[in-house]
Amino acid sequence: MNEHWDVIIIGGGPAGSTAARYASKENISVLVIDGKKEIGEPLQCGELIPSVDELCRLCPDVPDMEDLFQTPEHAISLRTDKLKLVPPSGKALEFPFEGIMLNRPEHDKSLIKLAKSKGVEYLIDTHVSKVSGNKVHTRKGDIFTGKVILGCGGTNDPIRRDYWDEKSLNIPVKFMLIDGDYDDSTVELHFGSSAPGGYAWVFPKKGGANIGLGIQKKHSKGISLNVYAKKFYSKFEGEVIYQGAGSLPMSGSVKSLVNDNKLIVGDSAGMVLPSNGAGITTSMIGARIAGQVVAKHILEDLPLKEYERIWNNQMGKIMRNSKRSLKMGNLLFKSPDFLVNLAFNRVTKRLLWRAVTCRAKFGIF
Ligand SMILES: Cc1cc2nc3c(=O)[nH]c(=O)nc-3n(C[C@H](O)[C@H](O)[C@H](O)COP(=O)(O)OP(=O)(O)OC[C@H]3O[C@@H](n4cnc5c(N)ncnc54)[C@H](O)[C@@H]3O)c2cc1C
Repeated sequence: MNEHWDVIIIGGGPAGSTAARYASKENISVLVIDGKKEIGEPLQCGELIPSVDELCRLCPDVPDMEDLFQTPEHAISLRTDKLKLVPPSGKALEFPFEGIMLNRPEHDKSLIKLAKSKGVEYLIDTHVSKVSGNKVHTRKGDIFTGKVILGCGGTNDPIRRDYWDEKSLNIPVKFMLIDGDYDDSTVELHFGSSAPGGYAWVFPKKGGANIGLGIQKKHSKGISLNVYAKKFYSKFEGEVIYQGAGSLPMSGSVKSLVNDNKLIVGDSAGMVLPSNGAGITTSMIGARIAGQVVAKHILEDLPLKEYERIWNNQMGKIMRNSKRSLKMGNLLFKSPDFLVNLAFNRVTKRLLWRAVTCRAKFGIF
């Protein structure tokens, strides 16, 4: 393995592999280092992403979605066409929504394959302990140098930890995969006291479902996520075939994405939409910009700060709307279930949908 690289990327998840794919060019060497033996495993995800058509509607300023999202059929469990917002009363509001339920480990592997096809090299089972200047130190004691270094290590990324002061709110999330027959056309988001400060989800998969929830501690009255999870899970019958957990950054993307020769991308930069928890596609949108800017920086001296500017052009409005929606949601989260039930009605239906899908409240961007 070479010691010197043009670009070193910490983390080979959706952000890292996508940034690598777009950074790699004929005269640019790119190395991805990941601590896992098998990137993408164990599963830590609800596995829902919007279809490409839906993404074009949700993120109108993001160009060329087809090139970015090339999800192969074997990484798709099923496609859905409806989304239900469910208050505690169970009286759901239904919306058309084209979703893709992934097989997430296969999805992440397909991104690695794409990156490798562009010449990217991977070093797995290797944990990065710290970055100093242009040196990347691994726990095994190796040192690699990179002209540019990208932190795509998710919520525990070492560059974000050591070089950024801005804090993000990370909320704990738990989920399970369960066998059974579920409405395979509809994804559900449940609100109210079953998941205070967050939401619970029921996402159908082939022959079962991915069911989970996230909560905010400040709204959970001292009760642990485990207790909320047990209660929500008890509503479903079927064999539990897998259980997992993780954390989601819910403060929106950080103000600055670049620090000298270091960039942060994906969850490490807070690129999850706070009002709906979507992070796979948003990370990939950020990662494509980062990869393209890094390539131009190396070949043509483009300032790395361009990454920040283009991200704000493509996703700034959506991120701001999503943060505002979460703030509005926080008011609702404090309310007893009967008020949440009242807030979910025909009159508020459009407003709730705009909030979840990160549009401006009254139709003005
Ligand atoms: C339970 C749960 C459910 C979710 N459900 C959904 C959903 O349904 N839809 C959706 O869009 N998003 C969902 N998300 C969010 C989504 O998973 C993330 O936004 C997405 O994975 C971000 O990609 P990433 O590449 O930034 O980070 P990650 O996917 O976390 O990848 C980071 C990679 O970096 C590696 N790494 C970390 N630190 C180091 C280090 N020091 N050295 C070397 N390697 C390192 C890790 O091994 C990992 O492979 C969910 C998240 C959780 C936790």
